[in-house]
Amino acid sequence: MDPATRLLHAALEHAEGAPSSPPIDLSSVHVSAGPGAAAPYGYGRLANPTWEALETALCALEGGSALAFASGQAATHAALMTLCADGRRLVLPGDGYYGTRKLCALLHPFGLRTQAVDLADLDAVAAALADGPAALWIETPTNPFLRLFDIARLVEVARTAGALVAVDNTTATAFLQRPLALGADLSLTSLTKGSSGHSDVVLGALAARDAALLERLRAWRSAAGGIPGPFEAWIAHRGLLTLPLRVERQSETALALASRLAAHPRVREVHYPGFARDRELVERQMSGRGGSLLSFELDGDADGAERVVRAARLVRPATSFGGVESSWERRARWADESAPASLIRLSVGIEPLADVWADIEAALDS
Ligand SMILES: *Cc1c(COP(=O)(O)O)cnc(C)c1O
Repeated sequence: MDPATRLLHAALEHAEGAPSSPPIDLSSVHVSAGPGAAAPYGYGRLANPTWEALETALCALEGGSALAFASGQAATHAALMTLCADGRRLVLPGDGYYGTRKLCALLHPFGLRTQAVDLADLDAVAAALADGPAALWIETPTNPFLRLFDIARLVEVARTAGALVAVDNTTATAFLQRPLALGADLSLTSLTKGSSGHSDVVLGALAARDAALLERLRAWRSAAGGIPGPFEAWIAHRGLLTLPLRVERQSETALALASRLAAHPRVREVHYPGFARDRELVERQMSGRGGSLLSFELDGDADGAERVVRAARLVRPATSFGGVESSWERRARWADESAPASLIRLSVGIEPLADVWADIEAALDS
């Protein structure tokens, strides 16, 4: 069956009387008098049926098995501690999500070593991975430049060097892009963004196929305690069910906005997967769709870009992305962000194209 069909039915039972929406189990303790692992649930930091319903639904898209975490960053933390045990370095892109670099910097005093490389340069990646035991961190499309990297080819390079590969799949989501099927060992998603899609929950997840790797990740979640709340897991699960519909709509609108923005005299450059470049890779790796996120650079300075952001009446000035409502921000307002001063990152919602474009055009002309 199609993964989008499996997604809808993954956590549902067909028995007489079974609920059509997975129940929320808030209990921090379940009865478990038996020895060892006799009951599947006991103490709430270790396992919870509502997390598992979400994890089962995620697996329908990702393949492998999934673990939900308190946030994307809690999942990244568990991934870094697992991938970089025993002094392995992390080879990562220099222009991906700044929160990943920030977390690595916090872990530096504890021995984590990183090396930034351009993932488009396969020779540079191979050289970095050949320089001692390492793991490879891929982010594609990157946030906020929407650069694309070829996961299957990078996995080949990493295999030659004996390195494990993790992919931050947040911007694409598992509906458009399936890193495990492309050979990666780990797929990370911030469910805060498009995967949950309604701007109402902070949550994250990791997926993997290898049982031993999953157990190490689970050990970090159980011991460090970066667990999801059952209610948050339920909200994320509910949102995830409509991910395919939302992403199809958002991708269509975003591509149309990308071409209109590119033709606007105030816009210097538009970044959107599959627009102008990378079309072949979008077809092969992202199910032919570019997703909900685009960014563009204006002619002019930071103040001009700020004025445009504030002039919109419909598109909301806000960070994050992937919600049903359109929003944007001048990305360089964040101190740790490496984006150019006039770059605006636009998260395309599910509103009809004409309304969003009318608002953006008016803001650009203001
Ligand atoms: C938001 C984001 C994260 C972190 O997720 P949180 O849920 O905010 O902790 C990681 N990677 C990318 C690409 C993101 O956009």
